[in-house]
Amino acid sequence: MDGKEESEWGRDKKKTGLKIEIEEYISSRDVVIFSKTTCGNCTKVKDLFDELNIQYLAVEINKMDNGQELEEELYEYTMEMALPNVFVKDKLIGDYTEVIQLSKGGLFQKLLEDKEDKPKENTYDYDLIVIGGGSGGLAASKEAAKYGKKVLVLDYVAPSPLGTTWGLGGTCVNVGCIPKKLMHQAALLRQALKDSCKYGWKIEDNVQHNWEAMSESIQNYIGSLNWNYRVSLIENKVKYENGFGEFVGPHQIKSTNSKGKVKFFTAEKFLIATGERPRYLGIPGDKEYCITSDDLFSLPYCPEKTLVVGASYVALECAGFLAGLGLNVTVMVRSILLRGFDQQMANKIGEHMEEHGVKFIKHFVPIKIEQMEAGTPGRLKVTSQSADGAEMIEEYNTVLLAIGRDACTRNIGLDIPGVRINEKTGKIPVNDEEQTNVPYVYAIGDVLEDKLELTPVAIQAGRLLARRLYGDSTLKCDYINVPTTVFTPLEYGACGLSEENAISRYGEENIEVYHSYFWPLEWTVPSRENNKCYAKVICHLKDNERVVGFHVLAPNAGEITQGFAAAIKCGLTKEQLDCTIGIHPVCAEIFTTLSVTKRSGGSIVQAGC
Ligand code: FAD
Ligand code: NAP
Repeated sequence: MDGKEESEWGRDKKKTGLKIEIEEYISSRDVVIFSKTTCGNCTKVKDLFDELNIQYLAVEINKMDNGQELEEELYEYTMEMALPNVFVKDKLIGDYTEVIQLSKGGLFQKLLEDKEDKPKENTYDYDLIVIGGGSGGLAASKEAAKYGKKVLVLDYVAPSPLGTTWGLGGTCVNVGCIPKKLMHQAALLRQALKDSCKYGWKIEDNVQHNWEAMSESIQNYIGSLNWNYRVSLIENKVKYENGFGEFVGPHQIKSTNSKGKVKFFTAEKFLIATGERPRYLGIPGDKEYCITSDDLFSLPYCPEKTLVVGASYVALECAGFLAGLGLNVTVMVRSILLRGFDQQMANKIGEHMEEHGVKFIKHFVPIKIEQMEAGTPGRLKVTSQSADGAEMIEEYNTVLLAIGRDACTRNIGLDIPGVRINEKTGKIPVNDEEQTNVPYVYAIGDVLEDKLELTPVAIQAGRLLARRLYGDSTLKCDYINVPTTVFTPLEYGACGLSEENAISRYGEENIEVYHSYFWPLEWTVPSRENNKCYAKVICHLKDNERVVGFHVLAPNAGEITQGFAAAIKCGLTKEQLDCTIGIHPVCAEIFTTLSVTKRSGGSIVQAGC
């Protein structure tokens, strides 16, 4: 890209920013007047509204730092030569002359009452309204708009009990995958610093980590992603409302913004993509003193000594990077690690974390959290109880609850169109086309019953749904053999069945498990431990030794797993793995040389790499 193109791009970005600013002003109040304090007609219009006792927002352009640019963009937006530009309920009314005309005979009041407050008969405002602007909702809305459909997406973040909120993009971008992976990377760098001495680097003895600096850099990056999402909605001509959406009629939605401003919209079809929010324990002190993953990534101070409650993805990943940053971390486990995952792999993750300083308290749950001292962080007293009634009292600076997430489906008026949810879990059952029991209401992503809660799954389901609804596609989302990675200090990548599930589906005698430890070359020079990284494939003997389960515990396990997932989708067999020539020297080559079966009991211990 040469300098000229770059500056054009910069100009485009600035223009889009101004357009967003104008649209945000317009939608922030029922009546918005773009005006100048020096303009006579502007003053007259504002006086008129005062007389009529109509509340308005006056955007005084001449008082703004970017006033001249905003005025130029406003002209392009309205094509009105003169100020004021008056908007009522998002619609341009015009300038002084039009306002005076309308004020006669109480037409303004009528306009304020009528617009959008009542559904129009036999016609809808939108083809599709998407409730939830996260991974799935944004993907679906942009795809639907590509087919020329009129699409509205509503996104609203209810603050966490501690008041944390964030921008557009949903869980993954703001309080999930993105900040999690970046903090995981921050922790891995500490290990890299340690290793680097053996590679000849001279590192100061007292290398320090600064939580605030890390958090600020990550939040700045997230801010840029929020911005990009906003821009891409504009570019794709998707209308965006920063409001909480709920059904108030079978085809009507009410949107309420953070200032309480209410708008009503109608649509032919609806997509529920409202995701989930962290669950609380329901014990004294939990909402007052504990944090969740919703708070952790933007925490303005280092959490210090931390208790992580829970033992699944979120718990182990957060515990892993906090310990990797050098903090004192304890994980409180109610039953087992990583329920639903291959338990041999889950236990290996636990062992590795334990060997790297994470403490595990097994078969206990907290029953009371008390504050001993306020602060950033303060001091908390945690009382816990085991299944047999034994009590334990410990002190921590921070308690992070990672005990699962609840679907955001209970307060969005789903009973009005008659959408059925699972009353126990709040999840929405859908058919294989993501259609709920109400034919014109669809659902995708984390709100779905019995589906994987992963960003790429929500995105894929959303895109394919839009193509089926508005294009001529019939392709459905394939929820089978979805690869995933747990970003614990030693990453765990998996695709297909766990060993337990393979046994229960095909019978132990019908599966063959090939496995091996391996030692990444990069770990040899700094003398990092051998026989920790582990690879296993599970093959179905009666189906030509087709690979039905793939598991790897290694650095960059996610990068390794992604490619093998494509092969598994193509029906990969053990023979094909054996015929594949490895890339040397990389971790993934172990999968081309697996020869020891679990059944044989042969040694898989490695002496060198
Ligand atoms: P979300 O992304 O949650 O979006 C829903 C949006 O709807 C939110 O913005 C919400 O505020 C909004 N909303 C809710 N109710 C309303 C309403 N009534 N009106 C308007 N808006 C509303 N997945 C991975 O694939 N890889 C990972 O590494 C990974 N790491 C994760 C780490 C953590 C800590 C967590 C919590 C999750 C992680 N996930 C990961 C899961 C991933 O984030 C989710 O699967 C994904 O975000 C689901 O997308 P969604 O569109 O269903 O919902
Ligand atoms: P989860 O998978 O539902 O696990 C909840 C954990 O909390 C379990 O270990 C559970 O223990 C424990 N727990 C539940 N109630 C408890 C209680 N009252 N007291 C103590 N412990 C309790 O939830 P999650 O880890 O929040 O993950 C949610 C979803 O997000 C996952 O399904 C995943 O798809 C997605 N995610 C993905 C990634 C990734 O791709 N890397 C990362 C994070 C999250 P029991 O086993 O005893 O029930």
